Amino acid sequence: MRATNLTTEQITELRERARREAGPFTNPAITSSSYSHNPEWAAEIIGERSNPRVLTWLEVYLLYIAKQAEPDPPPLAMARRRAYEQEEKQRRAAEQERWRQEWSDWEYLKATLEAAGTQVTVRHNYTSHRHLDGYTQGADHIYLKKPLTFGRLRRDADIVLCWTPSRAKDLEYFPVEGEYDDRVPTCKACIKTARSIAERIKKKESS
Ligand SMILES: [Zn+2]
Repeated sequence: MRATNLTTEQITELRERARREAGPFTNPAITSSSYSHNPEWAAEIIGERSNPRVLTWLEVYLLYIAKQAEPDPPPLAMARRRAYEQEEKQRRAAEQERWRQEWSDWEYLKATLEAAGTQVTVRHNYTSHRHLDGYTQGADHIYLKKPLTFGRLRRDADIVLCWTPSRAKDLEYFPVEGEYDDRVPTCKACIKTARSIAERIKKKESS
């Protein structure tokens, strides 16, 4: 018995739609939602013979739209279904917890940087034409809306926190359309600098 009633054509269409629509960014509202009916169903939609392993964002998005296209798939045996639903519940809770944690870490760093006199937001790097070690290409960076002076660190307004003269070329295009107040930064260099500022402020406060 098939785990889905969708036709091969419908599934092919959904896969094409997912490729067009998913985009490069994970949407936490979707990843933390119940986007799959069961592993057998997911395997048929994605096109794998066995149960899917860790899913890519494109696959998650595909399952999300496929579930909308097929809200009621063929039923699984009750016991298997209960076990699956239990696992799903735990996965969602873990995903939500991870997101809450990332968000509260970012809120803390943001408050710290703003206490140091700047104003920050998150912007996506669209310059993306080279791969170099040491910073994440195409990442979401900490963007300074006001200048920042902290110890020996000096940054003008309207650049990212990880900016250096040698990387300027790869860090020049940060349009306002790429500004996301609901995203956490993913650039490792930005986060590292923000953490070190936070630690130094903490030390100063406690001494
Ligand atoms: Zn950065």
